[in-house]
Formats: sequence, C-alpha cells, structure tokens
Amino acid sequence: MEIFDQPDTVNTFFAEVLLPVPIPKLFTYRVPHAWNEHVLIGQRAIVQFGERKIITGIILALHHQAPKEYEAKYILELLDNFPAVNDVQLKLFQWMADYYLCTLGEVMNAALPSGLKLSSESIVQLHPAFNLEESNHAFSEKELILLKRLQHESLGYSDIAKLLGTKHLYTILKSLTGKEAIILFEEIREKYRPKTEKKVRLTPDYNTSEALEQLFNTIANKPKQEDVILKYLQHVQVIHHPEANKQGIAKKQLITEDISESSLNTLIKNKIFEEFEVVVPRFDTEDKSELPIVLLSEEQDRAQSAIFKSFETQSVALLHGITGSGKTEIYINLIKKALDSNTQVLYLLPEIALTTQIVQRLKKVFGSTMGIYHSKFSDAERVEVWNGVLQGKFDFIVGVRSSIFLPFDNLGLIIVDEEHDSSYKQQDPAPRYNARDVAMVMAQLHHAKVLLGSATPSIESYYQAQQGKYGLIELNKRFGDAQLPQVILADMGRERKQKTIKGEFSGLLLKKIEETLKVKEQVIIFQNRRGYSPMVNCEDCGWVPKCVNCAVSLTYHQFRNALVCHYCGYKESLPQQCPTCTSARIKTVGYGTEKLEEELSLHFADAQVQRMDLDTTRSKTGYETIIDQFERGETNILVGTQMVTKGLDFDRVSLVGIFNADRMIHFPDFRSYERAFQLITQVSGRAGRRDKPGLVVIQTSGPDHPLLQTILRHNYKEFFASQLADRKQHDYPPFTRLIEITIKHTDKKTCKTAADILAEQLRDTLSFIRILGPGEPAISKIRNQFLMNILLKVPRGKYDLAAIKKTIVTLTTQLTTEKQFRSVRITVDVDPM
Ligand code: ADP
Ligand code: ZN
Ligand code: ZN
Repeated sequence: MEIFDQPDTVNTFFAEVLLPVPIPKLFTYRVPHAWNEHVLIGQRAIVQFGERKIITGIILALHHQAPKEYEAKYILELLDNFPAVNDVQLKLFQWMADYYLCTLGEVMNAALPSGLKLSSESIVQLHPAFNLEESNHAFSEKELILLKRLQHESLGYSDIAKLLGTKHLYTILKSLTGKEAIILFEEIREKYRPKTEKKVRLTPDYNTSEALEQLFNTIANKPKQEDVILKYLQHVQVIHHPEANKQGIAKKQLITEDISESSLNTLIKNKIFEEFEVVVPRFDTEDKSELPIVLLSEEQDRAQSAIFKSFETQSVALLHGITGSGKTEIYINLIKKALDSNTQVLYLLPEIALTTQIVQRLKKVFGSTMGIYHSKFSDAERVEVWNGVLQGKFDFIVGVRSSIFLPFDNLGLIIVDEEHDSSYKQQDPAPRYNARDVAMVMAQLHHAKVLLGSATPSIESYYQAQQGKYGLIELNKRFGDAQLPQVILADMGRERKQKTIKGEFSGLLLKKIEETLKVKEQVIIFQNRRGYSPMVNCEDCGWVPKCVNCAVSLTYHQFRNALVCHYCGYKESLPQQCPTCTSARIKTVGYGTEKLEEELSLHFADAQVQRMDLDTTRSKTGYETIIDQFERGETNILVGTQMVTKGLDFDRVSLVGIFNADRMIHFPDFRSYERAFQLITQVSGRAGRRDKPGLVVIQTSGPDHPLLQTILRHNYKEFFASQLADRKQHDYPPFTRLIEITIKHTDKKTCKTAADILAEQLRDTLSFIRILGPGEPAISKIRNQFLMNILLKVPRGKYDLAAIKKTIVTLTTQLTTEKQFRSVRITVDVDPM
C-alpha cells in the first residue's frame, strides 16, 4: 500500500510542529497515513524547513485541517516511541515564552540538548553487499536515480529531498531498505546510542560449586584456562553467592597481562563462559566510600521542622542560614523525604564550580538514582540524563539553571541553593529567564514545594518572605563549634602614606598570609577580574588600546602574552611602542587574578599558588582538579574570581583576602551594594568553617563606607533594611518590575534614531508608567553593534503586565518592519539582573 498520495480525507492528520527557530508560530506538516497510529503529542519529528534544511521539531497538536496558504509537506521521520517532551513541560515553555517575551521556538532551542534537536541528518548509504548491476529487483525510475547517486557517495536526507522531492522520500527509502539496497545509517541514533560494555559470566551449567569442581578436574592440564576461571572466581564469588554470577565481570577487567584472551575465547566457545552486553552510564554516579552518619544539630533540627511546618501551608520557603550553618544537611533530609513519597526532586545550583563538591557529598547518599546536569557535560551525556528522567531512571537531578527544562512529570520538591545568585539569570540568547523564578512556576504546575536557600538572600526574596508570601526560616549559628570569621579592613590610603604596600598587597594582608602559611593553614584570595591587568596605557601620551569591535579597553593576559577583549574575544599582541607617540613606556594599569597569582608566588616562594577563573577552568575537569588539589592541601593559596566565593567547603582555610571591594561597591548599578554585600559575605564564609576561627582582610581605600561597616558586623538585616528603603525611594524591585529594551545596530545614528522613536511611542502608549532613556549603556558598543537602552519601571500589582508586554511586542515589531529599521535588532529583557 502506498503511504503517500492519499487524498485528503477525514483520516488525514496534520501536525502543528514547534521548531527551534525565533519565528512566533507553529508549522503545519502532514502525517503519512502509515503513522496515524503512532503519532503523539510531544513526539519529536524530523521535517523539512525551507528549501534545504531538515530539522527536528516537536509535535504540539494534531488535526484534520489542511493549511489553506500552502501545501503541507510530509513529516520525514518520527523520532520517539513516546513523547520526548511532556505536557507540563509544554505548559512551562509557553509560560516562559509569554513572560520573557520570546518565541516558543527560542524556548525549545534552549530547552533541548543539541542531541535531541539535531538538524544535521540521518545518512543514507548503499548496502555494502548490494550490487545494482546484478540485482534482480525491479526499481522505479526515481529509485534508480537515487541508487546511482548512492554508488558514489552517501547522502543526507536533505540531499535526497532535493534529488527526489520530499513527497517521495519516505516511500522510496522504505522500499529500498526492504530490498536491502540501502542502509539508513542513522547518525542521530548512532551518536546517542547507549554506551555498552561486554561482560562474561559462567554459563548456568557451571554455576555451582560441584560443577566447578568437576570442571577443574577436566581442565587440569590447561593452566591458562584454569587461570581465567580462577581470576574470575576471585572477583565473582560464585561459590558463596551463586547469584553473583548473574552480574558477571567486564571482559576488560578479566583480561589483563597474565590472562590470555584466547583462553577466555576458548572457554566461551566450549560454553563454559558466556558473553553478554550491558548498558553502562556515560558517567559514574556511584560512590563506594563510607557514608558518614549525620545527626542534625539542635538548630538544624529546628530549622528543618520549621520548613516542614511552613510547607503545610505555603508552597515556597526561604531558608536564610549563615555560611557554614549546615544548610546542605537539611537539604539532604528534605530530598530523602520527597523521594520516599515517590516524587521527583530538582536541586538547582548556580554554577558548576559549586556542583563538584556538593555532588561528591550527595553521591554518597543518593548514588545512581541521582543525575547531574550541566553545560560541561558532553551532549551525549546530557541526552542520557534527559532520557534518564523521562524513563524514571533518575528521580533526583542536581544541576545548573538549564535543568529546569528536563522532562519531569512528578516533581515534589525544588531546592534553589544560593537563590540570590545572578548565574540563575540567562542573559543571552533568549529566553532571558531566571531559573529561580521559573522554578516557582514549575512548582505550581507540579504542585511541588520550593525551598530557596542562601546566606545572603536577594532583596526580592527576603522581601517576599517578610511580607508573608514565603515561609521564612532563619539559621543563625554555624554548625558545631565554628564561628563566623572576624572581618578587618586594610586601609590602603593609610598604608600608602606609610609605604607598607608591596605591589598590589597591603602590608597587613601580606603579614596575615605569612602567619597563616606558617601554621600550615590555607588562604583564599578573591579578585573579581581575570587576566593580568584590565588596562594598558602609554605613560607619555595616555594612549589606551581598545577593542576594534567593542567600546572597551583590552585586558592584558600575560600567560597568552596578548591583549584580549572580554566581550568578543578579539586578540592582539602587546605593542612594543606606542602607536601614537612611539614611546616605549607602555605600562599595565590595575590588576587581575593573573597578576595577583604572580605576585603571591614572588612574595611566598615556598607556597603553592593556584588560580581559579574562567581561563583555568575551560576543560571539563578544570574545576574538579583545582578544588581537589586545594582540598588535599597540595595548594596553599587559591586566588580566583567569583568562582572561589560560592559554597566551597574546606577544612583548613583560615584566611580570606578580598581585593577591589571599592570597585564592587561603586559599580554603577542599583544592585551594586547588594552584589558587593553578597560576594564579600559569601567569600568570607569560606574561612574558619571548622573549630579554628577565620580571618577576612578587605583591602579598601574607603574604610568608612557604611556597607563595609555592615559587613564587618555580619548584619544581614541591617543591610536589607537600608537597601529596601533605597529601592523604595528610587522605584526599583521589589517595588517595581523592570523591563529593559536594548536596541542594536551597526550604525550609531540608526541605532539612536530607532531608540528615540521607540521610546517616544512607548511613552505615548504607556503614559502611566515610568520610562527611562534611551541612554547609552556602560558599554555602548559590542561586536560592532551600537547599543541603546530603554528601561521601563512597572509598579507591582497595579497594572496588567501582560497588556504592557503586548504593547512592547507590537511597537517593537512595528518599528522593525519599517524599511529604514529593518536591520535594527531589538531585545527585551524582563527582570534584568
Ligand atoms: P552551608 O551550606 O550552610 O554553608 P554546609 O552545609 O556546607 O554549610 O555545612 C558546613 C560544614 O558543616 C560542612 O562541612 C558539613 O559537612 C558540616 N555539617 C553540617 N551539618 C552537619 C551535621 N549535622 N553533622 C556533621 N557535620 C555537619
Ligand atoms: Zn604614547
Ligand atoms: Zn571586543
């Protein structure tokens, strides 16, 4: 029976397919009759898109209505036997598209790991045993065309579609596979096929001690075969536990230098051993080390009960627990409880650097039912986690922000650790979402609970908790005998006068480092800039090298001996001579982690100094190696960017040095105080986590600054109160919602004109809200695009947010359809960070 070329009848299905493209609509495709029984909502389908592209989409709806404007193309292939994306996910994706003002396609693109949305294709090859000339099959003309081409090369679906037209593609391929003329070498599946391992075990006949005894008698004169069996028995204790034989042993493990493969093969041939294959995970989550017995302290216990109590009436709780108060142990108990009641759990962490240590802890408790999901994983690994959630293999996921996209269908608990962290916010590309906020919506869809945790909660979350919208649980004591560290300031102004500064280091900090190293304790140094020095200039004429694509000065990286742009990656060598005045007096200004690392090595020649920043952690295990070395005490001083501030838990760190607090505090952004408070408190929290007290030295030129004083007193509430008053006075979150519109164009004037027009139209239409700008952002050009910003401040709860957003979309779309602005790009960021 022909699959295609059936007339449109009531039995013809059309599918609305979501494609990972930034076009705000679905696309209609026709379902081949033969698949009517198999086609499902949420299933992935390969379709032709445009003239040449073949891409993976998701089927969102099925109906019998042929599209009026065009003739629907056939779906080329259905990829799953079950929906890869479930109903709750689709609801969440739709919410994200609506809330963050992007297309559903953009959400899909962010959600699916590349392995699940391959646009490269299945490859078709001629079967090696097939010979066209000698074949006695009758082929149609079209089939012949294809077969002749395949004699010379393998072809992708899109090549074939071009050759034959898509309408015939599926029929012909099926017919040719039937005639064993071709093989569909499915690259897509091949690459993501589960990893397997060859194992061997004794055949059932030999799986008893009596049988084995007899066996040994019969092969007594074959010592090599005997060796194989003896080694096997060493690992697999069949004699005591006949069941153990079922698991067998990896072939790799059995065959070593003294064991010959050919003897094993003989044993297999003689049906004494049998070979079998098992699926092995690409990564090992099993941890065999001892599980320490943990008893919650009185404070932890009280906090835990308070969380449970709060969950009885509220769906979100905020755990405000100071650094080292033992929040993780409480999380572990909550996770266990949620898993015991057969619901899934998602534990979100802001960064991979943090996952390394926590995952090691969690592995001991949850073993292989726990999946880990983050961007340093290969695509195949991510696909495996995705499928693992889908098939119920993992009911507990630890991961970074993108884990919110996984196909959970029965979440009971979401933990958002370090909820204040800006890494939860995706900047670019769309969807520009905040995983913490999405988690709340997700929890609603699943009727799950959310626990936000932090030592330095965001102003927004703490405010909600204060207002009674979230439960609020405070944990004010460090676990055990540990005390919060003492924080002192190194007054750089005074030290400059007294000439005690060496390089970038205050005399005070140097002295404290020396004392710390002497007693074999460790030091963490935090400087939030990578590279050697953020700027270079000519001492004679003041010339500063700038990026050719962006409005920023270039950062000097000594290791690469190059000037590098941190925004676009542009690189050039450090000039020997000033290009403007030919002076050779080119000097570096300011300092980054690289320079501090160098200075530390000079000051403390015997100490091992390690640096942790973007440049040293590019490889998959970059973080792990650095953290392990520090944990084992092989490194004495760890210097790094914000990566060193988060969640790390070391026994022997008794000193933390903080550079450039002033720059953090005075950064031009309404959140700069909040960020500075969080970063400094968090990194300070790495010190003195056991019985020895810790010390924190902050280098500053403004020791009287009120924010620093609050930090010295470890007073979150005082900080919160003053910030909240500020936010209220200046109409910032949590009292308003911000929407930031960025206008981009390669021509500065066009950019500005478009921004002016848009701002005016917005003001006309949305006269009731405050609109700031257009203004140039701090960095006014990136990758050759000039930027202008417009900021909308929407008072909370007063206006219809959806209507306002709709206006924004209408006006921006209108503007970019005007001829002169067609190449202007406009992005909208809801709740920017
Ligand atoms: P936080 O995340 O609040 O900064 P952690 O959860 O990392 O704190 O706990 C700090 C340290 O105290 C960790 O090393 C942890 O192993 C230890 N700890 C916390 N609670 C307990 C407990 N109940 N029993 C034993 N050790 C604990
Ligand atoms: Zn010069
Ligand atoms: Zn640049």
